[in-house]
Amino acid sequence: MSGPNSQYDPVEVSALDPANVEAAVDAALQAIAEASTLEELKAVRPAHQGDKSPLALANREIGALPPTAKADAGKRVGQARGRVAQAMKERQAALEAERDARILVEEAVDVTMVPGRLPLGRRHPVELMAQRIADIFVGMGWEIAEGPEVEAEWFNFDALNFDADHPARQMQDTFYVDPPQDGLVLRTHTSPVQARAMLERGVPLYVGVPGKVFRTDELDATHMPVFHQIEGLAVDEGLTMAHLKGTLDRLASELFGDGITTRLRPSYFPFTEPSAEMDLRCFVCQGRDPDCRACSGTGWIEWGGCGMVNRNVLAAVGVDPDRYTGFAFGMGIDRALMFRTGVSDMRDMFEGDVRFNAQFGLEV
Ligand SMILES: [Zn+2]
Repeated sequence: MSGPNSQYDPVEVSALDPANVEAAVDAALQAIAEASTLEELKAVRPAHQGDKSPLALANREIGALPPTAKADAGKRVGQARGRVAQAMKERQAALEAERDARILVEEAVDVTMVPGRLPLGRRHPVELMAQRIADIFVGMGWEIAEGPEVEAEWFNFDALNFDADHPARQMQDTFYVDPPQDGLVLRTHTSPVQARAMLERGVPLYVGVPGKVFRTDELDATHMPVFHQIEGLAVDEGLTMAHLKGTLDRLASELFGDGITTRLRPSYFPFTEPSAEMDLRCFVCQGRDPDCRACSGTGWIEWGGCGMVNRNVLAAVGVDPDRYTGFAFGMGIDRALMFRTGVSDMRDMFEGDVRFNAQFGLEV
C-alpha cells in the first residue's frame, strides 16, 4: 500500500489505473467464464476476488487517496468488483444448475426396472405336507409323537408282533446297524413309536407320528430307500373299526376335499388284527371316469394300511387287551404329496432341485 500523500493523481497509482482495473476485470471474467466445473470456479476465486487479487489491492489503495479522488476511484473499483462478483454469482448458479441436471440423469431411479432379487428359500414340500397332516391330527384333538430313526429291533419288530422269522426282518428289507449284536435297525416304519408312545404316555392315547423310514428298496419312480410316513394310533376303551373308518374319512376329506372317503380291503399285518388296506376315493374323477389316469379307471387309489391293534401289541407294552382296544393306520406322506401335486416321479422330490421347492414349497 502506498503511503498517504496529498498531491495525489490516481492515475499514478498503478493498482487504481483504470486500464489496470479494467484488465483485472477482464482477466477475472475470462477465468470465470472458462471455469467448467464448480471446483474450477472455486479455484478461480482467490486470484480474482481474494485478499491478494488486483481488485482487492486497488480497493485498499483507495484509502490512501486524498478525499477528492476517493469518490471517483471508489465508484470505479466498486463497479469493477461488482461486475466480477455478479459474473461469479451467475457462473456459480449456472454450474450448479448444470450439476443438478446431471445428477438427475445420472442418479435417476428407474422404478419400472425389474430388480435383481435373490431367490427366497422355500420349505420342502414333504416337510410342509407332514405338517399339514399333523395339523389335521391336532385339529381332531390328537397329540403328535416322535421316535428315533435308529431304532431297537425290539421296538421295530418284536413289540409289534413280528415273528423272529418274519420276512420283513430279512436283510433285503431292513438296514441293520453295525455291530449286529446291538440289535439296532434304521426303522422300517413309524409303528415302533406306537409301543414307545403307549409306554411313555399310557392309555387312553391318541397320537399321530410323522417321520422318516428306511427300507432297502431299489430307487425308482415310486420307491425310495428313505421315505416319509405318518402313523395314527388310538387306544381307548370301546374303540372299533367304525372309529377307524371315521377317522380315515375325516383325514381324506381334509387332505383331498369334501366327499373324498376311504374304503377298506381285508389284508394282513402282524401288528393289527383285523387288518385292512385302505383305498382313497379317486380325488380326480371321484370314480366317474373310466379313463382316469390317477386311479386307472378303478375309482380308488391305494393309500396305506390300517387295522385294530393286535392284542399281542397291547400286551407287549403292558396294556390290558381285555379292557382297551385300539386302531392304527399308516400312510405315505410322499405318496399323499404326489397325489396333491400330480408329481409322478418320487425322485423329483429328493433330487434337491430348487425349482421343485419353488413350485410346490409355498403351499401344498
Ligand atoms: Zn380317477
